Amino acid sequence: VLRVDNVWKLFGEHPVLRGISLEVAAHEVVVLIGASGSGKSTLLKTINLLEPVNDGQIFLGDEDITDPQVKPDAVRAQVGVVFQHYNLFPHMSVLANVALALRQVHGQDKATAEARGLELLTRIGLGDKAGEYPDRLSGGQQQRVAIARAIASDPRLLLLDEITSALDPQLVGEVLDLVRELKKSGSTILMATHEMGFARRVADRVVFLKDGVIVEAGTPEQIFENPQNPATREFLARVL
Ligand code: ATP
Ligand code: MG
Repeated sequence: VLRVDNVWKLFGEHPVLRGISLEVAAHEVVVLIGASGSGKSTLLKTINLLEPVNDGQIFLGDEDITDPQVKPDAVRAQVGVVFQHYNLFPHMSVLANVALALRQVHGQDKATAEARGLELLTRIGLGDKAGEYPDRLSGGQQQRVAIARAIASDPRLLLLDEITSALDPQLVGEVLDLVRELKKSGSTILMATHEMGFARRVADRVVFLKDGVIVEAGTPEQIFENPQNPATREFLARVL
C-alpha cells in the first residue's frame, strides 16, 4: 500500500528525515516509536503531503505521490489522518464532522453521507451522540469520532499521530480499543505512539526512529524482547 523510498526532509539546514525507507503492506499495522524530535510526525506529514520532501519518493499503491503533478487532494482522499489534538470542527455536530469528508472529498449528497456517518458512529458506540457538538464529548469520545471521520471514506491507509497523548489516562484505552478493532477489520495503519504496551500488543511491525534515521525495525518481539541496536536498547530502557 505504501512505500517510502530514501526520503530526506530538511527544515532549513537541519535534516529531520535522513534517508527513510519503509513499506506498509495491506492490512498491516506499523508503529513508529522514538524519542521526541526523532521525526515521527514529520514522516507522517510527508506521506499526507503536508510537508514536501527534499529527496526520495513516496508511493501510494503504484503512484509516486511526491511527483509535483500529483494533486494533494487526490492523495488525501485515499489517506485518513488523525492527529494528537482534537481534529473536529467545533461548530459542527458530531455527525456533520463525520459526514464532511464524504460530502467534500467524495461528493456524496447530504443524506447518503449522513446515513454512512450514523452507521459509523453507531459502530463505535457513539450513535446517540450524533447530534451533539464536539465540546460535549469527552476527549476519548472526540478522538473516536475523529477516527470515525478518518475511516468514513474507506481510505487505503490510515495515519495516526499520537492520538492518545493528549488524553487522560483513563480515556486512552477506549481509543486504543478502537484502533485494535480497525486492525481486526483489515485497516492498513501507520501510527506514531508513545504507548509501548499498545505497540507491543497490536503492531505487526515496530520501527524505531532516532534523529531521522530508522535504526531498527522488526516484530514487536524482536524490538521489545531482543533489540539488536544499542540505541534501541537505550531508548526502551528509558521508556519502559
Ligand atoms: P514527538 O514525539 O515530540 O511528537 P516527533 O518524533 O514527532 O516528536 P517531529 O515533530 O517530526 O518529531 O520533529 C522532528 C524535528 O523536526 C524536531 O527537531 C523539530 O523541532 C523539527 N521540526 C518539526 N516541524 C518543524 C517545522 N515546521 N519547522 C522547523 N522544524 C521543525
Ligand atoms: Mg510527533
